[in-house]
Amino acid sequence: MLITELKARETINGLVEGKKVFIINCHGCKEVHFPEKEAGELQKELAAEGKVTGILTTDYICNQENMELRLQKHMSEIEAADVVLVFSCGVGVQTVAAYLEEKKVCAACDTCPLPGFQGVTPLEYKCDQCGECYLNLTGGICPITACSKSLVNGQCGGAKNGRCEVDSDMECGWERIYRRLEQIGRLDVLKCPTQVRNFATDEEV
Ligand code: SF4
Ligand code: SF4
Repeated sequence: MLITELKARETINGLVEGKKVFIINCHGCKEVHFPEKEAGELQKELAAEGKVTGILTTDYICNQENMELRLQKHMSEIEAADVVLVFSCGVGVQTVAAYLEEKKVCAACDTCPLPGFQGVTPLEYKCDQCGECYLNLTGGICPITACSKSLVNGQCGGAKNGRCEVDSDMECGWERIYRRLEQIGRLDVLKCPTQVRNFATDEEV
């Protein structure tokens, strides 16, 4: 099981300030608790401010094929937006970010673990439910699962020819993050102060 919690309002304000927003809500699987009420209130406020170009509420946005079909029906609204704000667990945000690769895709929620059963559907992307989602700083690629050492402050320096020094079968996650940030014109993010990981959020709630 896992639970998604809305990020702090100031954090979300920083993501959408002066921007048009397309919103994606995932009300997907039984294994995930979504903050539907709080998210709904926030989205009403954004709509009242004239920021929202469209809203897609659906289930299982982690199912790549289905999600792509649904997104295709909203492409004009997505194109009109500066930011796509996703209310889902970390897997959903990564799936959307990979599909809308030229768009700024942001996580509106943090994903935390809960004890018990979790879905067994094979997924393209992984979220370790770390409790403090970094996807907004890493271009929608999870540094916790894409990097063998779960580094949150950049590459360890051990990669060779783009492969991870721990597992040569995988690409270095931080090289992927760099390329993605370069693609969306967000390399400035890497100049931000060192990210201090709050490990207290990595505990079961
Ligand atoms: S940073 Fe990764 S592990 Fe943490 S919540 Fe986001 S997607 Fe999940
Ligand atoms: S080589 Fe890349 S993916 Fe591997 S541990 Fe170092 S930074 Fe992480």
